[in-house]
Amino acid sequence: MTTCELLAPAGNLEKLKIAIRYGADAVYFGGKEFSLRAKAGNLTLEEIEEAIVYCRDHGVKAYVTVNIFARNRDLMPVRRYLSLLSRLGPDAIIVSDPGILALSRNQAPNVPIHLSTQANTTNYLSALFWQEHGVKRINLARELGIEEIRHIRQKITAELEVFIHGALCISYSGRCMLSLYLTGRDANRGTCAHPCRYSYRLQEEKRPGEFFPVEEDGRGTYIFNSKDLCLIKRLRELVDAGVDSLKIEGRMKGIFYLATVVRAYRATLDALLDDDIYPSTLKKAERELSLISSRQYTENFFDHPPDDKDMLYNGPKVVQPYLPVAVVIKGGKRPQLRTNHVIRPHDELEYMDTDLSETTFSVTDIRDVKTGRRIEKALSGDMISVGCRPEIDFAPFSLIRKKNV
Ligand code: SF4
Repeated sequence: MTTCELLAPAGNLEKLKIAIRYGADAVYFGGKEFSLRAKAGNLTLEEIEEAIVYCRDHGVKAYVTVNIFARNRDLMPVRRYLSLLSRLGPDAIIVSDPGILALSRNQAPNVPIHLSTQANTTNYLSALFWQEHGVKRINLARELGIEEIRHIRQKITAELEVFIHGALCISYSGRCMLSLYLTGRDANRGTCAHPCRYSYRLQEEKRPGEFFPVEEDGRGTYIFNSKDLCLIKRLRELVDAGVDSLKIEGRMKGIFYLATVVRAYRATLDALLDDDIYPSTLKKAERELSLISSRQYTENFFDHPPDDKDMLYNGPKVVQPYLPVAVVIKGGKRPQLRTNHVIRPHDELEYMDTDLSETTFSVTDIRDVKTGRRIEKALSGDMISVGCRPEIDFAPFSLIRKKNV
């Protein structure tokens, strides 16, 4: 194991367990309020308590996001919420608003504070400022390159966290009004409608209904559509630079993204300790990351500011060649699954193990968990048990996938 923490998103309790199964050292999640991902599912206070206990039992840290930019009317409810959170004892509260930082120190004095990337920390004096105001860890702005990260590391003692994978905002540190202007949904209050991914065309004032493409190809253009961040090849530099935590974006992303990304980065981080296996592990991890839906990958500001090669002008997304078909809810040789896609006897499926390996198996029979009856077809959302050839000892919260043909 490396000393650098791998920090994964957990949009709900099931995702939290999947992230832990695939090797996250820490997870972050939001409550139903005051977190910048209002549509992520998020956790009730009871679920937050359950999540923290589950994390403790698995030796994993639990961080709770309270990272909205608060308005005056939010302050009283946030104060109450922080005091309730404090009793549950998360390993940190993630904030971006200085007012909420002050409230956290007051209402939850024993809970460490992590600063969100939305606070836009781009230099060591800002980092020092936050450190002096009681911040234990700073998630640096995504607009920084590795040299600037190294420089900040030399100047401060607070922990540093850096985003290594996931969607990028075209706006500065996610401070963006585009969604509010175009759709009435405020990104700064967790309800972004992602209009930066829309296709745009130009309309001349006196020719209503006539739309001109901004790009020459005549299909319109996704002018704000950034490729996704992927720093899988740069982990050694980040570890050597003294970064404490490597963060994966995506509380709203699906379980296949989560399992694939966490296990790819886990394996590659661990392989940094063994030069013999590192090249082959990295190659496998890169292949794995190409199997999930993405907007293609960019290293963003890592070496130099991005340019047009780091944008995806001609379409919103790349389709994934694999589909998640089920999550293992109860492990063993005849596992119980919650399905995400149709499964039939004789289907050829792949069990995703933690070490970047997978085992192909054939479904021999399917039974409905509630009735115990044999069925010929399971639909998405069903709870089933399956027989498999060859026999595999399935672990809970693992994923099963199949080729997207
Ligand atoms: S519209 Fe795009 S750039 Fe703006 S906050 Fe939403 S995702 Fe980020």
